[in-house]
Amino acid sequence: MKIIGLTGGIGSGKTTVSHIFEALTVPVFYADNEAKALYNNPLILDEIEKITGASIRNSNGQVNRKILADIIFNHPDKLAAVNAFIHPLVAKRFEQWKEAYIKEALYCIREAAILFESGNHADCFRIIVVTAPEEERIKRVVMRDGINPQDVKLRINQQMSEQERLAKADYIIHNDGTIPLIRQVVAIHHAIINLCS
Ligand code: ADP
Repeated sequence: MKIIGLTGGIGSGKTTVSHIFEALTVPVFYADNEAKALYNNPLILDEIEKITGASIRNSNGQVNRKILADIIFNHPDKLAAVNAFIHPLVAKRFEQWKEAYIKEALYCIREAAILFESGNHADCFRIIVVTAPEEERIKRVVMRDGINPQDVKLRINQQMSEQERLAKADYIIHNDGTIPLIRQVVAIHHAIINLCS
């Protein structure tokens, strides 16, 4: 089973595109969701707090994602350290997850915001990048997460540049409303199936 990497900047539409692949029965591993789920583990929060140097928990012991985001997106060194800690754990979960599909699927998708930055692109047979105009991405994230446009911009600035990401793509999905997403995904799905079989 081949691994296809799917990435894109925040708000580009990675999750939306991944849902279309799932509708075509392609298994999708959501690395960002897996990473988020790890924050439910108090032992992991202990380790993250060693990096942030401050509490990132609410009074009930649950992670406070707003505090965490405020710290890491304002301190690139802390963001890098948190990623370096979390990513090997996510990679392990991916290895376990993959086993379930290895016999039945020609390919699976690994969706991740920081596919290149984590080095996981090296395991991918092909890479899909989802792209959308920055103003559109900001508007969509403001609507989705209820955060302000400046904070979205801050996160965009911490990510790889759009140009750099697109230069590494084997396939580009334009999520700007010009060509229906479903049509683009189906075309790529067929191209990948042809390559894999
Ligand atoms: P990502 O996973 O890359 O951060 P999402 O797929 O979550 O991006 O998309 C961000 C938000 O924008 C979501 O609320 C999604 O429903 C919405 N969205 C994505 N693509 C479109 C589109 N073409 N038109 C309108 N809204 C969209």
